[in-house]
Amino acid sequence: MNLPHEAGTPDQYGVVGHPVAHSWSPFIHGMFAKATAQNLVYRMFDIPPDDFRRETLRLFASGVRGLNITLPHKQAAAELVNELTPRAARAQAVNTIAFFEDTTLLGDNTDGVGLTYDLERNLHIDLADKRVLMLGAGGAARGVLGPLLERELRELTVANRTPFKARKLAAEYADMGQIVGCTFAELQGPPYDLIINATSASLQGEMPEMPPGVVGEETICYDMAYGRGHTPFTLWAQQLHARRTSKGWGMLVEQAAESFLLWRGIRPSTQPVLAALAALAQQT
Ligand code: NDP
Repeated sequence: MNLPHEAGTPDQYGVVGHPVAHSWSPFIHGMFAKATAQNLVYRMFDIPPDDFRRETLRLFASGVRGLNITLPHKQAAAELVNELTPRAARAQAVNTIAFFEDTTLLGDNTDGVGLTYDLERNLHIDLADKRVLMLGAGGAARGVLGPLLERELRELTVANRTPFKARKLAAEYADMGQIVGCTFAELQGPPYDLIINATSASLQGEMPEMPPGVVGEETICYDMAYGRGHTPFTLWAQQLHARRTSKGWGMLVEQAAESFLLWRGIRPSTQPVLAALAALAQQT
């Protein structure tokens, strides 16, 4: 709801997650706001799953106009809102909520466009006809499967610790292309063209155990997780001589720009933010 604002009172936005302290979203949206002269503040809200619905609705009732939603709440957020964009409806996962004047709570998912933008435009990877392995079947994986399959991949395998979830996701997306779900142990070569880590294992300093044959000298390995230095996944990939490893900074900034566009009607330039994050990640 657009509550009446005093002149100069910044509009309120934020990110809800558990944990959320690792988030760079306040920094990113702060830079976007400055660059586009938008009067807003962006905060972090650590809300555990049991309180998610009540506390998130309370934030909107208190005047917050938009929220990013991060782990583990993306699927709960799809159930909370009263309208979904087509891409969020397809994913049944929401990473962005906008609260409009008519009290509509609109749920969107910008993770998919964020990832494909980073892969294609920033990293110059052509996805068509590629064999792709997705690790994880949580909220982030849900958001990116549709946009990836739209690129006419040759094959998409989803592997997850809880195999039921991977198989369910594959069944949900079977109409869009060649997709299968399995456990990590069931994976086998030949090496994939692209492996995307969409598990949260890196946040715990872990990574799924997989047969080494899935990585070859031409494999590109992308960890959605981000942070200073290597993640366990990018380190593993490098040890197996993957062609290239990348972390999720670009996806993070591009999905944020799409959220900003939904909230403010402007898509900010992402390159200055990426450059600032690269400099900071080297220092911190
Ligand atoms: P969820 O909590 O929804 O899902 C977590 C996933 O990770 C599940 O598939 C879970 O498996 C798996 N998992 C967790 N721990 C382990 C482990 N120790 N070993 C193997 N698998 C594990 O999280 P999200 O999907 O929202 O986020 C996943 C990751 O992607 C996070 O690191 C997040 O920071 C990152 N991310 C990055 C973005 C970016 O812009 N760069 C955007 C979105 C997410 P199971 O089903 O068995 O529990």
